[in-house]
Parts: sequence; C-alpha cells; structure tokens
Amino acid sequence: MCQNNQQNPSHFQGSPEEQQVANTVEIGFQTYTQGMKFFDPHVHMTSRTTDDYQALADAGVVALIEPAFWLGQPRTGLSSFKDYFASLVGWERFRSSQFGIKHYCTIGLNSREANNEALAEEVMEILPLYLQKEGVVGVGEIGFDDQTALEEKYYRAQLELAKQFHLPVQVHTPHRDKKQGTERSMAIALEHGIDPKMVIIDHNNEETVKSVLDKGFYAAFTIYPFTKMGNERMVEIVKQYGPERIMVNSAADWGISDPLAIPKTAALMKIKGISEKDIQLVTYQNALDAFAQSGQINESDFIGGLGIDQTQKFNGNTILRGGQQPRVNKDSLIIQ
Ligand SMILES: [Zn+2]
Repeated sequence: MCQNNQQNPSHFQGSPEEQQVANTVEIGFQTYTQGMKFFDPHVHMTSRTTDDYQALADAGVVALIEPAFWLGQPRTGLSSFKDYFASLVGWERFRSSQFGIKHYCTIGLNSREANNEALAEEVMEILPLYLQKEGVVGVGEIGFDDQTALEEKYYRAQLELAKQFHLPVQVHTPHRDKKQGTERSMAIALEHGIDPKMVIIDHNNEETVKSVLDKGFYAAFTIYPFTKMGNERMVEIVKQYGPERIMVNSAADWGISDPLAIPKTAALMKIKGISEKDIQLVTYQNALDAFAQSGQINESDFIGGLGIDQTQKFNGNTILRGGQQPRVNKDSLIIQ
C-alpha cells in the first residue's frame, strides 16, 4: 500500500477492504467495534498514564490482567519486589477502577531477574503470600529470556507454585531463539505434570502457533509495533487456525507499545471478514476462560461496567491532584 494514499484516503485506489482500513484514519477504528467489549490479558498499566486508562475504557476494554515483570532496570533488593507486588494488588487496581476497568494481575519472578540468584531466592520466599491474594489470576509472567540455567531453575520452581495454588501459568517466551524457547517451556510444563489448559504461552508468532495449539496449550499473541506481531499478521493467523484457544494482548509497557492494540485488531478483523463471534473469542472470551480457571474472575463483576467514582480514595490517596475535579469528558478541547 502506498504511503501517500494512506495519508490521503480520499484519493485511495485499492480494494474495498484496503479502502476501509485507510478510512479509519479519518473516521476512527471504533466505527467497527461498536458494542464490542474487550479483555486485555497482558498489559503493564503501572507504566502507563491515566490518558491510556481513559482511552482503554472509551474503546470498550472492560477488564485487564497486569503480569508482574521487570521494570527496565534490575531491582536491587527484596523491598522493591514487595512494593511492586503490593502495588499490583493495591494502588494499580484502584487506579484502574477509577476508569471503570476491572484489574487483575499475575504474580511471579520474571525471567531476567531470575538470573540474580541471591535475590531470586528471597523473592521465591514471598511469592506464596501474594499468590493467595484476591484478584491474582495466575503465576506470571515467567519463563525464559536468555534461556540460562537459573531461568530454568526458577521457571520450574514457579510451576510447582502454580500447581500448589491451582493457578494458571502465564509464560513469557524469549525474543531470541523463540522456537526453541517455546518448545522448551512447554516440555518443562508437561514434565511437571501441568495440564496444558492451565498454561498460556505468550508472544507467539507464525513459527510457534501450530505446535502450541497442537499440544493443547493456550496461544497468546502480543500485538506490538515493529517487533512481535503486527495485527495484519494476526488476522491471517485467526483465518488459518480459527479462534479456539487463541487470545490477543497488547503487552503495552514502558517501551514503544500500543494499549489499544486489541480494539484496533478487532476492527481490522471485522473489516477483513472475520465473524464477530470469532473476534469476541480471541479478544475477550478465551482470555476470560483461561484465567477464570484461577477461581478469581467473576464476569458479572465487570460485564455491566464498574461504577466510577473518581472521588474515591485508596489509603487516603486519590488519582486527582490538588483541587482537580473528576474528569467527565476527555474529548473536550478546553482543558480546565
Ligand atoms: Zn509483559
């Protein structure tokens, strides 16, 4: 598709589908997602702003899962982990509720920081405490990054925790040697006697999807600009493999990423002829089914929308800064 045409949709000369995609620049992708509800099973809201929360709510995202991960630089002590886990089940959940979005999380020791053995041992000690907290829907995100011996040691140890607490496992697969890392993650999970239905293999691509589905695991796809998966490729995957056990996520974090990846992908699927039922499965229902195995998700808590009261407080603190009024209309040009 020619760049000029994309910028000037009125002169576009493509197929009707390409024309529709180009037109969304002017009319907004939400024209195609009216009435749809979305569940993002992987998004790091701690790294995002209140504008992102507002945009997610406006786009129909009603619930999300925030996996514990690394923060871009290594933590130097156990207290940093404690405070981070506490914020995932506390302050961040509150912030999300202020925009009407139900917030869940998964708790785990991420693969990068598994390589600091002394600290990893301490983190393993406190994980059981957080895994039992309300709204914790899995052990995650855990798995391989550089595929080191220590990563394997703590991946195995956390699979055992998942078994002990009857929680689903959210598996991060590596960027490098993805195929091999994915196969190894699945083989180890099976070795520990974990039902593949309890395991969500994340960050799949065309190379890994068939094997993940064939073995009975859930296959999650991260729509991430420039690296993991574009959403045009995602459409093709759903066309080829169908919607069963497939889910889409944004994995939006502190890097260049798009928290609206799911509703945008749903719009593209609609334009490209995927049925609304199948769109609903891969952008909402499958993630819900997978993580509801934790016993911690009750759809009726959010399906009708959360009541929003931005005057509420969490431990005496609110999302409103001194004297601010709760926001009512984000689209207003006037910023008071
Ligand atoms: Zn992540």
